[in-house]
Formats: sequence, C-alpha cells, structure tokens
Amino acid sequence: MAKTHYSKIDQVIIKRLRDIVGDQFVITDEEKIEPYSHDEIPEAKYANTPEVVVKPKTVEEISQIIKLANEKLFPITPRGAGSGLSGGAVPLFGGVVLSVERMNKIIEIDEQNMMAVVEPGIVTNDLNDKVKHTGLFFAGYPMSVESCFIGGNVAENAGGGKAVKYGVTERYIIGLEFVTPTGEIVEVGGKRIKDVTGYNLRAFLVGSEGTLGIITKVIIKLLPIPKNKVDLLVLFPDVKSAIKIVPKIIRQCGIIPTAIEFMDKISIHYACKYLNENIPYEKSGSMLLIEVDGSNEQVVEKDYDTIGNFCMDNGAQEVYVADNYTTQERLWRIRRNLGEARRYYYPHESIEDIVVPIAHMAEFISVIKKISKKHDMQIVIHGHAGDGNLHTNIVKNPNDTDEDWNTKLHHLQRDLYVVAKNLGGTISGEHGIGHKRKKFMPLFLTEATLEFMRKIKRAVDPNNILNPGKIFDV
Ligand SMILES: Cc1cc2nc3c(=O)[nH]c(=O)nc-3n(C[C@H](O)[C@H](O)[C@H](O)COP(=O)(O)OP(=O)(O)OC[C@H]3O[C@@H](n4cnc5c(N)ncnc54)[C@H](O)[C@@H]3O)c2cc1C
Repeated sequence: MAKTHYSKIDQVIIKRLRDIVGDQFVITDEEKIEPYSHDEIPEAKYANTPEVVVKPKTVEEISQIIKLANEKLFPITPRGAGSGLSGGAVPLFGGVVLSVERMNKIIEIDEQNMMAVVEPGIVTNDLNDKVKHTGLFFAGYPMSVESCFIGGNVAENAGGGKAVKYGVTERYIIGLEFVTPTGEIVEVGGKRIKDVTGYNLRAFLVGSEGTLGIITKVIIKLLPIPKNKVDLLVLFPDVKSAIKIVPKIIRQCGIIPTAIEFMDKISIHYACKYLNENIPYEKSGSMLLIEVDGSNEQVVEKDYDTIGNFCMDNGAQEVYVADNYTTQERLWRIRRNLGEARRYYYPHESIEDIVVPIAHMAEFISVIKKISKKHDMQIVIHGHAGDGNLHTNIVKNPNDTDEDWNTKLHHLQRDLYVVAKNLGGTISGEHGIGHKRKKFMPLFLTEATLEFMRKIKRAVDPNNILNPGKIFDV
C-alpha cells in the first residue's frame, strides 16, 4: 500500500471510540472484522481489512467519530449491508469501518403525505414489508432488495428492474440528514414534492458513494402499489433479436412497461440448475422478462396483449403469461438469482455494469461477441435492457492462471469500455465506481469534469477522511 498521511489506530483512539459508542460496538477482534473487509465483488484483490469496526446508534455519535478522525487523522469508510459491487464499502487504507447496521428504525410512516422517514440501516425489503399495509411502496429499489440497506441505495443511487417505469432511487429521496466529512450535521429537503431552496444538496449526496457525507436519515416518497401486474416471459431464437426489439416495444406499442429484463441462455441455464427450476429455455437463445402494471385490470390486460403480439410479430418464438403471484415470483426469483447462480458454477468473474443508449444496445451486443472471441474469454450477459444497462459478466477460463486472467481481463475491459464510450455509453449504470472502476474513469470523463469533482471533495473533506481512494484519487 502507498505511504499515506493517516495515523494508525492506537489504544488512545480505541478508548475514545469506546467512550462515544460503548465498548461492545467497537470491534477489534480479527475474526469479527473479516466480514467488513469486502463487499459482494467475488475477487479477493478488491478486499482490505479495517483496523477497527465501529457501530454507532445516533447521528451525534457519528458526528463525534468524524471529528475525532479529523483530529487524529484516520480514514472512515461508511458501510451499509456490504452488498455493493464496486468495492465502495472496502476500507482501502484500513482505519475505521463505520457500519450503520444499528440505525435500522422506521422513524415515521406518513400515510397522508405518502412518505416514510427512515434510518439508513433498514433493509430495503423490510421497508416495503412494513409500509405494505398502507397500500404504498418504495419503487426505486434494486434487485438486492432482500439484503441491501436504504442508506446504501442512496449512496449508490441504486436502480433496479423497475427503473424503466419508476426510475431509480434518486427520484424518491426528498429529504436527507447527513454528517459532513468534518462532522457537522446537515439537513436538506423535507416532506415537500417541490423544493428549490438553495443548492440541491440531495442530488449532491445521492450517488456520492460515501465520499461526501454519512447519511443518517432519509425521507422517501412512496407510491400506491399498483393493483394489477402481469409478467411476460418472451423467448427469442438469439440474443440480437431480443435486444433489438427493446426500444421498439416502448416506442411502437406506446406503452412503458414496468420492467424489461434480458437474460441470455447460459444465464438462465445456470439459474435454473442452481434453483432446481424448470422453464422452457432449451430451444431459445435468450429471453426477455417484461412486466406491465397498473390500477385498471382491463388496461393492463390490453397492454400485455399488445406487447405480446408485438413480440410475436417481431421474431419472438413464444410468449408465456404469468398473471398470478406464484408464477410471477418463480420468474423473478430466477432473475434475482442469475448472479449468485453463475458465481456458484464460475466463482471467478468480473461483473460489469455498462449502460448505453437503448437504441445502441443491439450494436453493443454484436461487438461483445467479437471482443469475447478476440480475447478468448466467455462473456455472460443479463441486465436491465429497458434502461440500456447490460451486465456483461466476464468469466475466467478455468485453465488461465491468475496472472493471465488479470492481464486478459484488463485488455478485454478496455476494449468493451471503448466501444461503450463510442456508442454514447458509460462504465456504470447502477453499481458505482468504488475502487474497482476508478482507473477507467478518464476514459469516460474529461479531465475538467474529474478535476471539478476533486475540487468539491477537497473543499468538503480537507483531510480526505471519508472513504478515501474511491471514485477518483484526490
Ligand atoms: C445479487 C445482487 C444484486 C444487485 N442488484 C442491484 C441492482 O439491481 N441495482 C443496483 O443498483 N445495485 C444492485 N446491486 C448492488 C448493491 O446491492 C447496491 O449498490 C446497494 O445499493 C448497496 O447497498 P448496501 O447497503 O449493501 O451498501 P454497501 O455495499 O455497504 O455500500 C455501498 C456504498 O455506499 C456507501 N454507504 C453505505 N451506507 C452509507 C451511508 N449511510 N452513508 C454514506 N455512504 C454509505 C459505502 O461507503 C459504499 O461506498 C446488487 C448486488 C447484489 C449482490
């Protein structure tokens, strides 16, 4: 590791941390610290062990910890559930991992205003479970909904399968409380749909990956749960015919589906094997999972019928309709488990998160095939096709050494990124930069843009305390 200006965590610091949060919430035991050394990236090279893990309960405690860090000069890495896929919650320089797992309360469910006020450590699915009885839900959630925290969703500006219609996390964040990198407690926004009072600091924090503040309270806009929902599983003979139809579905049918998810044959194969599921994919080359929802049953019926017929007229082999909870959940369970299933059979892979304008996805897909051939590496594809966000998962050949894998991966990634960039795409649609992708940032952002970001970071975090080494180097 490069020489840094940070101090080691010594007994004096440990004592001060214990005075702030209580003895049992300052963890120094090596075994107990290990789970905080990595997120969900499978590759060990992205992990690093913290010197201590601290679990505060209140915003005031976080403020005191950050002030102590500035006094003693040690780094702090905020952590939610650790489900990230960019190394964002990994403490690159050791120091303190600050876990918000004890801050997991719903402070208020305001049915009248259709809002919830929550702490950052609540599991996203738990929020939806707990507001369900009001007929409302948080629509911006990612696929990792069963494990990730709301604070992590905000810090990553997570998006998910339903982003085509409902957008991503930022659309629903109307108020925040956070602690700045120098320890001040700041509140922005509130229970207001419109608010232009000063700079939009909500947008400043959303997607900042724990580098500009620690989020301690979130005000979330909720929507009414749609009464009707139908999923279509549409089979295509190959990858290209499925991808080509995606932008046309929205434009030519005049319908915005809730979701258009893409899965290639190999992804489905491994997910079915892993889950012991059985869906009729053998004769197809790829699938789209298309969801339509709404409050009027007849309208939803008409919409899915229109989309189904359109797909059949444009190269689909078969359309299966899932109109009840059991079959819908079966399909979405397969979709949610694609990554985990693949990693079970291929533990060494790089999960990519490229996003391109939807009309250019077909071109992107055809180049991926060539790049895969050129580097002799398998690329397995699934993703949120309705948003142009395709996870091109690069799989290590079993016979390649780690050194071969790292070299080949670097060259393959560069080729992929250049193509994406030339098509107007970018390196990450939802997983963020963290430290996994930062070396490629200059490919996508101009030096002036990067320098403006660095200036903001330097101004608010003069000692580079909060999540150093992420997104870019200062
Ligand atoms: C199976 C699987 C499926 C996934 N699907 C999706 C998907 O569909 N869409 C998507 O967008 N992502 C997806 N992800 C990635 C990940 O789940 C999201 O990025 C999620 O929002 C991370 O939340 P977390 O609580 O786990 O955050 P962590 O991984 O703990 O942290 C992520 C980043 O947020 C920062 N952070 C966390 N909490 C705070 C806080 N309170 N204040 C300030 N900074 C904080 C951390 O420092 C880090 O930089 C998936 C991951 C997995 C494993």
